[in-house]
Amino acid sequence: MFEKILIANRGEIAVRILSTCKRLGVRTVAVYSDSDFRSMHVINADEAVLLGGARPAESYLNMDKIIEAALGTGCQAIHPGYGFLSENAVFAEKVEAAGLVFIGPPAKVIAAMGDKIEAKKLAIIAGVPTVPGHIEPVADLESAVKVADEVGYPVLLKPAAGGGGKGMRAVDGPDDLASALSLCQKETLKSFGDARIFVERYIKRPRHIEIQIMADSHGNVVHLGERECSIQRRYQKIIEESPSCALDAGLREKMGSLACSLAKRAGYTNAGTVEFILDENQEFFFLEMNTRLQVEHPVTELVNNLDLVEMQLRVSSGEVLPIAQTDVVLKGWSIEVRVCAENPARDFAPSVGLITRYAAPKGKRVRVDSGVDAGSSVGVFYDPMLAKVITWGENREQARQRMVQALNGYHIEGVFTNIDFANRILNHPVFIKGELSTDFIPTYIFDESKKIEPPLSSLHAMAIATTLMHHLRKSLVQHALRPLKSRVGPSHFSKNTYEFVARTEGNVFKMRLDKNGSEFQWRIRVNDDIYRVITPQPEFYRRRLKLSINEQEYHFRLNYEGNFIVAAYCGVSLLYEIYNLREWKLAHYMPVPSMKVVDNILECPMPGLVVDVKCAVGDQVFKGQELVILESMKMESAVSSPGDGVIEEILVKAGDAVESGNVLVRFKKT
Ligand code: ADP
Ligand code: ADP
Ligand code: MG
Repeated sequence: MFEKILIANRGEIAVRILSTCKRLGVRTVAVYSDSDFRSMHVINADEAVLLGGARPAESYLNMDKIIEAALGTGCQAIHPGYGFLSENAVFAEKVEAAGLVFIGPPAKVIAAMGDKIEAKKLAIIAGVPTVPGHIEPVADLESAVKVADEVGYPVLLKPAAGGGGKGMRAVDGPDDLASALSLCQKETLKSFGDARIFVERYIKRPRHIEIQIMADSHGNVVHLGERECSIQRRYQKIIEESPSCALDAGLREKMGSLACSLAKRAGYTNAGTVEFILDENQEFFFLEMNTRLQVEHPVTELVNNLDLVEMQLRVSSGEVLPIAQTDVVLKGWSIEVRVCAENPARDFAPSVGLITRYAAPKGKRVRVDSGVDAGSSVGVFYDPMLAKVITWGENREQARQRMVQALNGYHIEGVFTNIDFANRILNHPVFIKGELSTDFIPTYIFDESKKIEPPLSSLHAMAIATTLMHHLRKSLVQHALRPLKSRVGPSHFSKNTYEFVARTEGNVFKMRLDKNGSEFQWRIRVNDDIYRVITPQPEFYRRRLKLSINEQEYHFRLNYEGNFIVAAYCGVSLLYEIYNLREWKLAHYMPVPSMKVVDNILECPMPGLVVDVKCAVGDQVFKGQELVILESMKMESAVSSPGDGVIEEILVKAGDAVESGNVLVRFKKT
């Protein structure tokens, strides 16, 4: 075993590799860029070497500096992680030439597999079925038209050098081919410095199934079962699991042994993944081979009870594989969610900023592989993936439920994340049934016509959480004022019953909170339904709240600002407004003036960022009409017109930061 290795990566994967090294007693050297000086991987490593500027070219992609760092600190090997230089054959070669071990397959195998056309040719030789298509790069538009006709529409244009879903384009018919081809060529040239495109048949509604293999340098190859990675956006994975609902033992054995024969044929060593797509008739086709540790490797680890990084280190230092194929028995089920700093509501635009609060989920058989903590900055130069949550269960449903609970309790403030978006997928009935395909997100999540309303029980539970939080907040204030109040008379907060109204999109809930014996036990009525609620002791004024409602445990994430509380639960994120009964009566039972505003202005109800102004000067607007869209507390909400009127002046524009009380719009005096 090595004594000391360098990890040529950052973020969660660098931290992940470090922890195995620590367990095995292997000393570690981290490398970092200017902007990563206080990152977790730097703090956790035994030593760290600064490479240079934040731009990847100046740091994590700078081959010579990385090799120099490894030699200078007395390392014996370099682990490349994934991304960056992990599939760079030139780097692997340089590492070997410097007398170091590259933890991965030989450079020539990386070169062959990194080229999708070469890899496909190798797969055909190894007897692995490939997607019907044309195996040579297309020369020009004319030949592309001919090839596409032969292959049959729809076709997929694919860059030979591609990766990470970049540059691929599906084409429905000959009319769209010319523009798609030119876009595809431009994009792949820009991303990979190579313009070769080839044509494949576009498989409809496929599943993405991949086989993890592990090979040593003594000719042994095993596969560790499959992973299903069908939940993707823009051809990039976000939720993965192992095993897959789509495979039975026979199909697993067939795909597994073909993956092994491809690896043998290629002279493969170390960890690798053979990717396939599976069509609706259970026919599978080779896509590509990834010659590195994959992002989603933990699900394989959990169902095999193995540490793949340990296996990589052992194989690289010349050891024989510790297991044979007959030892591989998958146990239980594992699911992974990639937590990314991005805004799903805005086409997954990456979100940058400083993580101001961070609380990772805990729970039975919940693993969090994270590269960030409170105080970490999320910049523009690197991948937006922050962390991964991985759960294990006896079966798929148990693993799923553990994941749902974990995500309910994962709190990250400062950047937008896809946590609630992923949770919405996990709670979708089609996902629960295991009917997955790579177009799941556009088909079920983004199609408004198929939108599923959250169940009333969730809305009630969220109303209970937000109202309790509001009540606690009010009583803390009352408590603080007690010395003053004692002069005036007893505080009414010694009461046992409180009434509120919780309002959310399209719903108004009348809430009655009754202290049920102790401070921590409540009997709560939501409209006509009664719930027994137990709160944490002694106080629960937090961003994450655990409640027992009718003997069932619930985890909520809450974000509050005045009367407004955003609650996130099982992928549903809703803004609740809480009023006490008096405020509510004043607002709703008193005669409402046609323009119920101080004078003729619309004030901003909460601090935030103006995303959109949906009216113009001179517009006749109506009560309830959305005038300004705000981004606040990490969600978008509309500020609507308090009455009928004509817009005289608009005082904000998209991009403005606003405070509560700022005037957004002025109406004409009538
Ligand atoms: P695939 O290539 O099959 O999509 P993965 O899903 O494991 O495999 O990774 C997607 C691509 O994005 C890969 O090229 C990977 O190297 C890169 N990538 C993903 N996450 C990160 C990250 N956090 N840092 C750097 N590169 C990443
Ligand atoms: P990358 O190197 O970008 O990971 P892949 O070839 O692995 O490229 O494909 C990534 C994803 O693109 C697959 O998981 C699948 O969703 C989709 N895809 C690739 N080839 C096809 C195809 N022929 N038909 C339909 N979808 C495909
Ligand atoms: Mg791929």
